[in-house]
Amino acid sequence: MKDKKWKAFLDGLFEDKFAGVITDILKINPSKRLSDVSPDLREDFLKLMIEFRFEIIGTLDFKDSMATAGGADVREVNPETFESKIVKDLYLTGELLDIDGDSGGYNLHFAWTSGYIAGQSAARRQ
Ligand SMILES: Cc1cc2nc3c(=O)[nH]c(=O)nc-3n(C[C@H](O)[C@H](O)[C@H](O)COP(=O)(O)OP(=O)(O)OC[C@H]3O[C@@H](n4cnc5c(N)ncnc54)[C@H](O)[C@@H]3O)c2cc1C
Repeated sequence: MKDKKWKAFLDGLFEDKFAGVITDILKINPSKRLSDVSPDLREDFLKLMIEFRFEIIGTLDFKDSMATAGGADVREVNPETFESKIVKDLYLTGELLDIDGDSGGYNLHFAWTSGYIAGQSAARRQ
């Protein structure tokens, strides 16, 4: 561990660009060995990790978005089958509906679950 380089230490802990920002703020040479990083600098690193603040100045374009909001109104589907209340035999699932969750698996979970339920419901109607 003590022969490990600073950059290698940050690999896996942080995304590359963020690791670069931290390294720049602390003014550490990325190829410095961990054993050569002074106790003061280690303390600064810990403090920075606890107190790091940044201002969000904008978002990326729609093409880079992770979830889409604004599909069909959820009140227009039967929540037990995901069949449209307006058009018979039409099933709306996932992001076709106006549902979006925080990042962390909720959107995929909803897409799969609603798709499964809609598929089962449609098959039962045959
Ligand atoms: C970069 C990125 C990262 C993400 N990370 C996460 C994450 O970590 N966790 C999470 O929960 N969610 C994540 N999401 C969101 C998640 O992927 C979506 O919410 C989910 O895939 C929506 O599923 P869906 O079936 O509704 O739509 P989609 O997965 O978009 O499926 C729609 C399908 O329909 C096809 N299609 C479109 N038009 C037509 C047409 N006319 N004819 C035939 N086929 C058509 C498309 O090609 C596509 O395959 C991420 C999304 C992106 C873009």
